[in-house]
Amino acid sequence: MNGKRGLIMGLANDKSIAWGIAKALAEHGAELAFSYQGEALKKRVLPLAERLGTPQVFECDVADMASLDQLFADLEALWGKIDFVVHAIGFSDKNELRGRYVDTSRDNFNMTMDISVYSFTAVCQRAARMMNDGGSLLTMTYYGAEQVMPHYNVMGVAKAALEASVKYIAEDLGKDGIRCNAISAGPIKTLAASGIGDFRYIMKWNELNSPLRRNVTQEEVGKAALYLLSDLGSGTTGENLHVDAGYHVVGMKAVDAPDI
Ligand code: NAD
Repeated sequence: MNGKRGLIMGLANDKSIAWGIAKALAEHGAELAFSYQGEALKKRVLPLAERLGTPQVFECDVADMASLDQLFADLEALWGKIDFVVHAIGFSDKNELRGRYVDTSRDNFNMTMDISVYSFTAVCQRAARMMNDGGSLLTMTYYGAEQVMPHYNVMGVAKAALEASVKYIAEDLGKDGIRCNAISAGPIKTLAASGIGDFRYIMKWNELNSPLRRNVTQEEVGKAALYLLSDLGSGTTGENLHVDAGYHVVGMKAVDAPDI
């Protein structure tokens, strides 16, 4: 990643998936900038950014297009061009991340789609204008987009739309040498995940039923992100790369599996 510069969106603390990704990129020589949501997070994000030798942090609420415009104007003033963006952002009312999907309210449906789906498209629009010699765009998704998972509800519907957007964006921007991919991470204990009902049970289930018989770490997601954001991934776009200890390939575990 030497000589590459990129933006990491969605760092909240040292448990964030964005932190695992930022560490992997910085270790391999990338120069990073971070955006955070709201002044309150700055005191957490700035010290983390500084640990990676990056004091460049910008406030940005992705629900506010003026705030996104300002972020990319600031980045353009700072660097002129950009090589990659990591979008590790999602949000829904936690009261609707339990119970039944069918009870989802219209307001929360719209808000979840806006922050968790449209924001990625809005980011790609702005980032692509700063990617004159190609680039790589990455977002984070979850298996609840593909199959029904307990309590994931409206977020599963949002992630399905996000995964579809990745494919459309890959096609739109591919001719400019800009790649667009998603990582579908297995469950990881983070601030956002703590809002999902029975999350500890979901983690235990994945640990027992994944081919690797364990959960994944932020660092493992970071390594996969390094592949997609660097030249190692130069032939890959429109992809949804599962970093989930293989959970997505399992239909049913064999009856003689050792830990049943
Ligand atoms: P996290 O809480 O550390 O990160 C979520 C981030 O989204 C926070 O930094 C928060 O500030 C940001 N955010 C929310 N609303 C925003 C807004 N309006 N403007 C700007 N930022 C906003 O949790 P995480 O688990 O690291 O989540 C990162 C991404 O990974 C999310 O898209 C999440 O759905 C996805 N993901 C998480 C898991 C998991 O198990 N933790 C699994 C698969 C995918």
